[in-house]
Amino acid sequence: MALILKAVENIPLIQKGDDLAELICKNAGDILDNDILVIASTIVSKAAGLTFLEEDIIPGAEAKRIAAINGKDPRFVQAVLDESVDVLTEAPFMLVRNKSGHICINAGIDSSNVGGGRLLKLPDRPDLSAAEIGQAVEKKTGKKISVIITDTNGRAFKNGQTNVAIGLYNIKPIRRWVGEEDLYGKVLEISEEAVVDEIAGAANLIMGEGGDGYPAVIVRGLDFYTNEDVSITDLYRDEEKDLIIRGLLELKR
Ligand code: GDP
Ligand code: MN
Ligand code: MN
Repeated sequence: MALILKAVENIPLIQKGDDLAELICKNAGDILDNDILVIASTIVSKAAGLTFLEEDIIPGAEAKRIAAINGKDPRFVQAVLDESVDVLTEAPFMLVRNKSGHICINAGIDSSNVGGGRLLKLPDRPDLSAAEIGQAVEKKTGKKISVIITDTNGRAFKNGQTNVAIGLYNIKPIRRWVGEEDLYGKVLEISEEAVVDEIAGAANLIMGEGGDGYPAVIVRGLDFYTNEDVSITDLYRDEEKDLIIRGLLELKR
């Protein structure tokens, strides 16, 4: 088996209104059936115009209260609150569930690779963004492809960040091993492989976090294509079933 990961070269600095599908198709070389297009959320957000200046945010009382305990700028805290549906921790950092259900630090608001002293929010509806880009690429190429939109996240328990999937199109997020046999014929009972996060992590080996300018990667050689309705929310565990979320909410009380 072999897996190919290929950077899309020559993507410009993305501006509001840019046609990402067009730019990717122009620069990706051949796109084949079953290719997985991995796109950094940063450029999806830039193209959607989701940048803002901290000084334009007016903090409310709740933002001021949280800022006083976590030491962040109250305007930044307000921006995080505006993107959040649940706040799991307030200090030393804000771990929140954002509007699309993704749990991450600061709702993913970030200034890296944005420029102009501006901050960037994550896409509001990342599955929809993935579908829009994917369908546009399919139309231009006539190929059936999958899309994963990613962001770089920290993890519980471990140092170091890794890319994770935050939006999907035409790809099964989980490979179920339940019912399969292991090497010795033992039937697997719980193994579910979060393949979209694994692919996101692999693609980030090319993207990097700095000024490399590789926000899009083609992944070839896997077979996780589906044209069924899929959603990144299939990966998000319910609060009642998640010991860590329940523990964090308990700590806040
Ligand atoms: P995130 O993980 O989605 O927050 O994105 P990063 O800020 O880590 O950037 C991932 C990759 O995309 C890096 O190689 C960046 O240099 C690149 N990148 C970010 N914005 C742009 C852009 O506007 N144009 C190009 N060509 N690359 C970009
Ligand atoms: Mn980011
Ligand atoms: Mn990144």
